[in-house]
Amino acid sequence: MAVLPKSVEKVIQEFERLPGVGPKSAARMAYFLLRAPAERSRGLADALVEMKEGTVTCQRCYNVSDRSPCQLCSDPGRDQESLCIVEEPLDVVALERSGVYSGVYFVLGGVMSPADGIGPEQLRMKELKARIKEMVGSVKDDDPDSDESSADDKTKRRFEVLIATNPSLEGEATASYILDMLREIKPDDGDDKDKIELVVSRLAMGLPTGADLEYADRLTLKRAVEGRTTL
Ligand SMILES: [Zn+2]
Repeated sequence: MAVLPKSVEKVIQEFERLPGVGPKSAARMAYFLLRAPAERSRGLADALVEMKEGTVTCQRCYNVSDRSPCQLCSDPGRDQESLCIVEEPLDVVALERSGVYSGVYFVLGGVMSPADGIGPEQLRMKELKARIKEMVGSVKDDDPDSDESSADDKTKRRFEVLIATNPSLEGEATASYILDMLREIKPDDGDDKDKIELVVSRLAMGLPTGADLEYADRLTLKRAVEGRTTL
């Protein structure tokens, strides 16, 4: 026997599907909206629809944005030769809030977790490889005279890849997978191999094991980024 009207039950069910929301919180939220003025519910519904319709995934970094390429990818003031790899869009928000990183990002879309059936194929590993190749390959386009001066020009062009997956078991496994993938990229660069230096780093300790970047405080994140180590 259904005690609640179907419409209320439906809202509770929808809330329960959200991360971190149990049946009790779901019911509380539904009753709150039920008692609140109608504008509250309409405002919430409109905001949700607007969010879905007004956002796209940036095809360069795979972050959520209102355009593609996003603001960060198309900002000439950012270091386009430093790429920070994160798990989720909220990690970009957290790192931007710390204000210590001025490069660009790549959002993997999760971490490898064999127990949950998530392997490299379920993440954006192929896209990441292509993105790094593109970044390193841009040397040719930017520096057309380099061939003539290559013999005596010993200055290498330095690129950085900062692996900023969470310091969890899955995050570490994902980081080492990326590291192996990067080793494959390096020798492929043929002619330009000697002119390119690809520095790979990982966020330093400072973040507690098992923590989420998303919830880390500013200082902890700042120290972690500043103390990153080359792999
Ligand atoms: Zn982007």
